[in-house]
Amino acid sequence: MYNTVHSPGLSSLTGLQAPTYPSNCLQFLDNLEGTIPRQHVETQPLSVIVVGAGLGGLATAIALARDHHQVTIYEQANQLAEVGAGIQIPPNSSRLLLQLGLGPYLEKFVTQPESILVRRWQNGKIIGRTRLDPQFREQFGAPYWVIHRAHFHAAMHSLAIDLGVTVQLASKVASYDVHTPSITLADGSTILADLVVAADEVNSTARAVLMGGTNIPPQRTGFAAYRAVMDLERMRADPEIASLLETPAFNLWLGDKRHVMTYVIGADKWFNMVLSHPDDSDSAQWTHDQDEILANMRNEFDGWDPALSKIIHMVDRALKWPLYSGATMHRWVSGRLVVLGDAAHAMLPYMSQSAAIAVEDGVALARSLGKVTCLSEIPMALAVFENVRVTRASQMQEASLLNGKLWHFPDGPLQRARDAAMVPEVEDRPFSHSPNQWSDPATQMWCYA
Ligand SMILES: Cc1cc2nc3c(=O)[nH]c(=O)nc-3n(C[C@H](O)[C@H](O)[C@H](O)COP(=O)(O)OP(=O)(O)OC[C@H]3O[C@@H](n4cnc5c(N)ncnc54)[C@H](O)[C@@H]3O)c2cc1C
Repeated sequence: MYNTVHSPGLSSLTGLQAPTYPSNCLQFLDNLEGTIPRQHVETQPLSVIVVGAGLGGLATAIALARDHHQVTIYEQANQLAEVGAGIQIPPNSSRLLLQLGLGPYLEKFVTQPESILVRRWQNGKIIGRTRLDPQFREQFGAPYWVIHRAHFHAAMHSLAIDLGVTVQLASKVASYDVHTPSITLADGSTILADLVVAADEVNSTARAVLMGGTNIPPQRTGFAAYRAVMDLERMRADPEIASLLETPAFNLWLGDKRHVMTYVIGADKWFNMVLSHPDDSDSAQWTHDQDEILANMRNEFDGWDPALSKIIHMVDRALKWPLYSGATMHRWVSGRLVVLGDAAHAMLPYMSQSAAIAVEDGVALARSLGKVTCLSEIPMALAVFENVRVTRASQMQEASLLNGKLWHFPDGPLQRARDAAMVPEVEDRPFSHSPNQWSDPATQMWCYA
């Protein structure tokens, strides 16, 4: 599963093939990157339409523009804005973002948590611990960041513009022609390109075109999340809560069918919370009344750790989001139309990987197209892209769903066995496996390396 040679070209150049058993013994080949001369290929610059200026669309546009393709993004919104609060940028994403040149655009906005502290719902006792900084940075060659979504989005947008990407706002795509290929906007105008990439969110219309009668839209998972951001200064005034803020860390409380994830964003300015709970109801019927939302949220976590309850009672504004997960989508390409990001792989946010996988998608697409020397080679490049990404994204969907089970055991034998298996990581003793997927060595290598 994790026997990927990171530099497949290098493996063939050195005559070393990746073993068929799970092993990382060829990982050192990455150190050769740049030292073995490669054959120069005269690539064909393409005109590319990207639909959607979310995190996935922007990452794709940046990766393609870096390779000298001419990129135009069509976005339905009249202005760009990211709704929501914080977002995690794990090393598999931060490594690529740094390679794309986002470092100077992001660095002043990111926070690097030292660890992930997994806590018992009832009293906040630490039951699991993943050390992130410097361990993750050293092991995986990239930092584990958190950031406000608005800062992340603005940084991506600025770099895209600096690289010459054109962003057309108020441009809703109404239909696609996968063969020409082209898009037709809601105002009736049709635009042609060499390639169309749709990163047009969970309810993607491009996915419906691509899949035809076999399209299965992402399904509600039976979970919803409250999201809130609070002013850190207000929280520091309370000594019981202040102890949770002494070092930048993720705090994750686990309980029956529920969990709460918190971390600090805005370079030490805001406290970000995601509170996941069961909810099967139709989101169209949900109340917009803040007093009602806050009362329901407090009710869901009644009786949890007193320090956490105190924080929950300090929240004065929360948004409620339905959580979706898609079935594995085996086709991401039709003709010269590609879908990626949430449009291709909606997943529960429980591995904090959905946008990270969208960043990987964008870079993988650019790399696949990086060997194209004429338009007739595009289908082959897209086939390589699809083959690699379907597996990676569907495994991440699976890992996210699994966290939804591992985190939500009611008190009882499964919960006790899970917590007992995390004792070595809490006590800093060696371990070879953990139900905490951030700590589990095999999951780590697959996920972040
Ligand atoms: C509670 C929660 C917490 C999360 N936490 C994390 C995390 O910590 N780390 C992580 O990696 N991920 C996280 N995610 C997931 C992450 O937010 C999404 O995966 C990511 O934002 C998806 O990016 P996208 O570009 O694919 O889609 P979107 O961000 O949805 O963007 C799609 C864009 O396409 C536009 N569009 C749609 N249709 C059209 C059309 N017809 N014409 C033109 N434009 C169109 C939309 O207006 C939108 O701007 C979380 C999600 C949730 C719900």
